[in-house]
Amino acid sequence: LRRNPGEHEFHQAVEEVLGSLGPVVKRHPHYLAERVIERLCEPERQIIFRVPWTDDAGQVQINRGFRVEYSSVLGPYKGGLRFHPSVLLGTVKFLGFEQIFKNALTGLPIGGGKGGSDFDPKGRSDAEIMRFCQSFMTELYRHLGEYTDVPAGDIGVGTREIGYLFGQYKRITNRYEGGVLTGKGLAWGGSQARTEATGYGTVYFAQEMARHAGVGFEGNDVVVSGSGNVAIYAIEKVHELGGKVLACSDSSGYVVDEQGIDLDLLKDVKEHRRERIAAYAEARPSARFVEGGRVWDVPCHVALPCATQNELDEDAARVLAANGTEIVAEGANMPCTPGAVRVFAEAGVLFGPGKAVNAGGVATSALEMQQNASRDSWTFEHTEERLAEIMRRIHERVVTTAEDYDRPGDYVFGANAAGFTQVADAMLAMGVI
Ligand code: NDP
Repeated sequence: LRRNPGEHEFHQAVEEVLGSLGPVVKRHPHYLAERVIERLCEPERQIIFRVPWTDDAGQVQINRGFRVEYSSVLGPYKGGLRFHPSVLLGTVKFLGFEQIFKNALTGLPIGGGKGGSDFDPKGRSDAEIMRFCQSFMTELYRHLGEYTDVPAGDIGVGTREIGYLFGQYKRITNRYEGGVLTGKGLAWGGSQARTEATGYGTVYFAQEMARHAGVGFEGNDVVVSGSGNVAIYAIEKVHELGGKVLACSDSSGYVVDEQGIDLDLLKDVKEHRRERIAAYAEARPSARFVEGGRVWDVPCHVALPCATQNELDEDAARVLAANGTEIVAEGANMPCTPGAVRVFAEAGVLFGPGKAVNAGGVATSALEMQQNASRDSWTFEHTEERLAEIMRRIHERVVTTAEDYDRPGDYVFGANAAGFTQVADAMLAMGVI
């Protein structure tokens, strides 16, 4: 706390992981003796830089850019870039810290990192977005490389932004180094199924949770928060698997659609027109828009928070439990507050933490790196099969780790213990680093 004042989200993420590791360090006391935990609280490198750019009115704007290269013991730093006005150093550190263990759980050779800027893309023209991305990369490029640090997208950063960033990287370095950024377009080195991967993977994980608990997934009513990349493709996969998504949201409120969310319309509103969620309800007679409302008030069997951190608090968790929700799986990073997670545990609601549930995105980014390295390009079906298999393996690993410590059904413990143990063992093998 003293060394990182005011970094609330970082403190919360660290506490969540460390608070659950008691049984692990009891079994492996050398982790304490070798001060592995203290080492992991300090990122390997933190980069902060000025991003000056010119808006359409000719006015100079200044933003702050970040890249936290957190841990490289399992592979090059890997994790997304977030463009949102709420981004502070503590936000990026929390995301980077989570990313280390998430990436370990994928079983793929990737370390943990995260980055972004307090730039707000809302309402900005394409030309402004491009100028911002070019300025951002003009500083960041010197820290990147396919064997060093490989960013991807996150909130506010999709294929359009990755395109502008990659274009500038290529221009400055004079290298077509496809593996330096993931989330690229299909025509220029991207992977099939990367756009869909985090949302699809989230639903695959929730389906495994249901299967393991002996309940079906088909026919379930599902509520999803957000309507961005993760939310849209989670909705798509729920519908493919026979569930019905009744509601989704953005930061202005939520829509309920008793007929089930019409995905084509949602994609048109969000991906093409880039409008607010109210536009969905305006175009669909079976839907209504609730301004400023809380999407968790809509009764459901399965809840998938896919928007942002701390969006589902203790109160909302009580409402979900009272409405009979059986499964909550985090498509976003840390969307449930510690109080909400406690409520789920007390009420017997199965809870899957983000670092396991949403790992399909970064796993498919690692598959994109594999394809770039071998100058290959796989089919959608093959890539999705790999993704589904990875999600099954993550689920299996989390469940068996929890059982090994006599904590059956405790996904939070299983994910933290399995991820931490792998990272800690790798650190110890490499000496005092
Ligand atoms: P997008 O920018 O595509 O979508 C974010 C969605 O969340 C939007 O609907 C947005 O609404 C909403 N949102 C953002 N901030 C807030 C807020 N403060 N309050 C309410 N709603 C908010 O981002 P992604 O879908 O890519 O990311 C969503 C989450 O998933 C994040 O936690 C991210 O870290 C995590 N994640 C993403 C991965 C990926 O591959 N994209 C991989 C793993 C995790 P609005 O437009 O109104 O702001």
